[in-house]
Amino acid sequence: GNYTRDEVLQMAEDEDVEFIRLQFTDMFGTLKNIAITARELPRALDNEYVVDSSYIAGIAGEKEQDMYLHPDYDTFTILPWRPQQGKVARLICDIYRCDGTPLEKSPRYILKQVVDMAAEEGYICEVDPECEFFLFHTDDNGVPTTLTHEKAGYLDISPLDLGENARRDMVLTLEDMGYEVESSHHETAPAQHEIDFKFTGANEMADCVMTFKMAVRTIAKRHGLHATFMPKPRAEVNGSGMHIHFALYKDGKNIFADPSDVNGLSEDAYHFIGGLLAHSQEMAAITNPLVNSYKRLVPGYDAPTELTWTKNNQNSLIRISNLRKDSLAIELRSPDAAANPYLVFAVCVAAGLDGIHHKLYPTKASDRSFSESDQKAMNIGNLPENLYDALVHFENSTWIQSILGKKFCEEYAAAKKEEWLNYMRQVSEWEISEYLYKI
Ligand code: GLU
Ligand code: MG
Ligand code: MG
Repeated sequence: GNYTRDEVLQMAEDEDVEFIRLQFTDMFGTLKNIAITARELPRALDNEYVVDSSYIAGIAGEKEQDMYLHPDYDTFTILPWRPQQGKVARLICDIYRCDGTPLEKSPRYILKQVVDMAAEEGYICEVDPECEFFLFHTDDNGVPTTLTHEKAGYLDISPLDLGENARRDMVLTLEDMGYEVESSHHETAPAQHEIDFKFTGANEMADCVMTFKMAVRTIAKRHGLHATFMPKPRAEVNGSGMHIHFALYKDGKNIFADPSDVNGLSEDAYHFIGGLLAHSQEMAAITNPLVNSYKRLVPGYDAPTELTWTKNNQNSLIRISNLRKDSLAIELRSPDAAANPYLVFAVCVAAGLDGIHHKLYPTKASDRSFSESDQKAMNIGNLPENLYDALVHFENSTWIQSILGKKFCEEYAAAKKEEWLNYMRQVSEWEISEYLYKI
C-alpha cells in the first residue's frame, strides 16, 4: 500500500480534516457513506466502524447482521469541493462480518477476487473507461429536466457554454484528487460530454469511476446543471455509454500486440475477444443493468447491437483500439455508466481470461453492419433486446455464478426482475398517443 495508518492520521491532521466519509458501494453501484469526525478516525482505521446493513442493497441479508467497515488506507483523499476550512476527506471501505470474514457479496470484494485470480496466472489487466454523461438544466424549483439550450456537437468548442466550464472544473477537481485525466471532449449529442482516464489496474479504476461520478454530479450542481449517467435520457439523440478499453500484461509486456498478424493481434488477443463475445449476453444484466440501458442499444445511435468485432465499425460490440502505440487495447462498447464499475470490470476481465483459458476464437472481423439474413447465415447473435432477456441469460449462466457468487446472483436477479415487472405495469405516453384514439 501507499499509506500506513500513521500516515493517514498525519495527513488528516496536517490538512486540518474535520470530517471523514467512510464510503462503500452497494450491489447496484450506488455510493453510500457515513461521516465521522476526525476524533473518531483512529477507531475507523482500526476497522471498528459498524454499519447497520439492513437497508443496504446486496449488503443486508444474513439475519440483518451489522457489518464492519475496513477502510483502504490508500484511498484517503480530501474532497476538494467541500469547505477548505474544516476539510472533508474520504476513505473507501471493504465490508466484513463481525467474525472477521469478508462479505463475499460486496462488489469491491468480487472484483478483487478476479484481479487476484488473474495475478496468480501472471496477468495484469489494465482498464480505461470512457465515461459519457449529459449536463441538463434544472427547472425553477431545482428539479432536473432533460432540457438543454446547448447546440454543440462532437469535439465542438463553445466558449459561452455552461457545460464546458463545468467540464473544465470537473477535470481540475479530479486531478486535484490525484486521478489522471487523459482527455475530455464534447460528445455527439447536445449537452453530452465525455471524460477519459489513463489506463490503470481494475481495482483502482473502479474506485476512480465511483469517485468520478460523485465529483461530476457535485460540480455540475455548482454550475446550476444536472449531470446524468442515465444511458438514454432522450430518445432522439445518442445515449451515454461507458466503453471500456482493456490491455493485458504479462511479465510487464503488453501481450495483445503481434506485428506479424494481419490485424496486429496476438493469439491471446483473439482469445480475449472470443471470451468477451462468448459471454456478452450473460454479462448484459451487469454491463447494462437498467430497463433504460436497452433503449440505448438500438441501431443508428453509435451504440452496439451485434455480437461482432471490428477495427472501425461503430455498431460492433468490440473494437481494436490503438490509444497508445505501445499498448494495443481491446475496446468493449456495450457497457453504460449506470453499471456498477466493480462488477463490470470483474465480469469483463473474467470473460476475456476465460477466452484465453479455453482458446476461444471470435468470428471473422467485420467492418460493416450485416443485414438480418446475412447475420442469420453467419450465426451472428445480438445483445439482449431488453432487461428481461438479459436476465434470462444471466440466470441461466453457471459461468456468471462462478464469478459473482450464487448468493449475489440470486439477490441481484430477484431485484432486477422486480424492476422489470414494475416497468411492465406502467402505461407509457407512447401507448396513449398510439392507441387511445385509434382503437
Ligand atoms: N454515445 C455512444 C454510445 O452510446 C458512443 C459514442 C462514441 O463512439 O464515443 O455508445
Ligand atoms: Mg464517446
Ligand atoms: Mg469508444
